[in-house]
Amino acid sequence: MRSDLIDLARETRGFMPVPEGLALYSAGLRAASAGGPLLEVGSYCGRSSLFLGAAAEETGSVLFTIDHHRGSEEHQPGEEYHDPDLLDPSTGRFDSLPCFARTIRRAGLERHVLGIAADSSELAATWRAPLGLVFIDGGHSSEAARGDFEGWTPHLVEGGLLCIHDVFPDPADGGRPPYEIYLRALESGFVEVNSEGSLRVLARTGA
Ligand code: MG
Repeated sequence: MRSDLIDLARETRGFMPVPEGLALYSAGLRAASAGGPLLEVGSYCGRSSLFLGAAAEETGSVLFTIDHHRGSEEHQPGEEYHDPDLLDPSTGRFDSLPCFARTIRRAGLERHVLGIAADSSELAATWRAPLGLVFIDGGHSSEAARGDFEGWTPHLVEGGLLCIHDVFPDPADGGRPPYEIYLRALESGFVEVNSEGSLRVLARTGA
């Protein structure tokens, strides 16, 4: 992977450790052979988008990034992961879109990372393009995680990869919903092909 992109990822706000980002990058390269573009749910400031975007650039593919950019529950003022630098001074509301756009511009990945500011479930309901990889790292409530799983996995091609972040088998390490959709994926015929930190990479097999 381009070393300047790894350096940029290190300085970009976000919650994706570099080793997990590199595992995402490898999954992105592998997904290119399954066919179809890549799609990420939950972009925040674009840190993980750099890893998948690098894979898209190298394989001549594209990464769609989906985020409403209004922040998840835990990003709001007074919550654990709130960052006051991401408040829009004109409205006082959380807005990670300018930060995301700056990251992708600095990376020179505008032709390979196509950002969509939208609600994930609404977009999934009207989406038509088959996808080679889906990365779920959006809202961590049960409703959001379930919506992302049910909305996006039907769009994966045979052999396509489903990546899920923040999968914690031990409840002491983190919230349940990403782990629950990981279990559902295994029950519905996905096969685990890689694991790094809290990232799980699964392949879609069968019908
Ligand atoms: Mg995450």
